[in-house]
Amino acid sequence: MNDPAGRAPVVRCVLGDVPADRLGMVYAHEHLVLDSPLIAAAFAHILLDDVDTAVAEVGPCAAAGVGTMVDAMPCAAGRDAVRLAAVSARTGVNVVAATGLHHVRYYGEAHWSGRLDAGELAELFSADVLGGIDAFDYTGPAVRRTPHRAGIVKVATAERPTARDRLVLEAAALAHLGTGAPVLTHCEQGRGALAQIEALTAHGVPADAILLSHVDKVVDRGYHREIADTGAYLEYDQALRTPEDTALLVGWMLADGHGDRIVLGTDGARRDLWSSLGGGPGLAWLATGFCDLLSERGVDEADLRRLLVTNPARALVLRESTR
Ligand SMILES: [Zn+2]
Repeated sequence: MNDPAGRAPVVRCVLGDVPADRLGMVYAHEHLVLDSPLIAAAFAHILLDDVDTAVAEVGPCAAAGVGTMVDAMPCAAGRDAVRLAAVSARTGVNVVAATGLHHVRYYGEAHWSGRLDAGELAELFSADVLGGIDAFDYTGPAVRRTPHRAGIVKVATAERPTARDRLVLEAAALAHLGTGAPVLTHCEQGRGALAQIEALTAHGVPADAILLSHVDKVVDRGYHREIADTGAYLEYDQALRTPEDTALLVGWMLADGHGDRIVLGTDGARRDLWSSLGGGPGLAWLATGFCDLLSERGVDEADLRRLLVTNPARALVLRESTR
């Protein structure tokens, strides 16, 4: 990546930087730990608070060849770097942690995250990437940096970005420019990707450092072509819920020549998706059943490797920072 020191490109994981060509199969939008008082009270169906359970769920993924997972929970909304590091150490699967901010619904209206300016937010995000994620996850007045650094900046917007969304997009862009960490977005109901790309690129983020989550909720070939044409990555993560729709989109994008723009994940936050909690089909199904489905639809081994190995390795790499 144009590194003047000639170092190999790396992806920043919670247990240390990993060469981009050693990630193995990558799940690009996961939820392994989701634990905050607000989630416990209002979103108990996605409360994920136990390392043993996560290890039991990730184990079969590792057995299926998954080498790296991106945990998509950003600051102060249920993230826990220490528990993510424990899951990574016990499973051997690399975990990329996120900084950034989620939707206001995971914080409440009076939260500090709605009262800082873009520069102040960017400082907090950048410190997670460069110094280490706060052991208290920015939930209190004290900050204690862990050795576990964030490797991606997460943002969420409404379909049409609100004033808060615009400020957080600017902060994410500043953090990208200062750290080189790529930007992973949440597209509400899969929509709003183009507005996110427009805002982030206007603030200097290259399109190919942006990954758009949940866009396979919108089964519209033209929308996906437009996103891919910008050079950003489409992150398809609905395969555990709507496998036929996601497979159809993968087929369309491959046919349209956009096979180098797609990455896959499970967005497996719901407890009823986890085998280890008695649900199904289990996070491993993306690497097993869904890949079988894609093969049946004519996707060959080389393309599967692009979607799961080489595309995410390119998308997740730390860019040279401008700081
Ligand atoms: Zn998610």
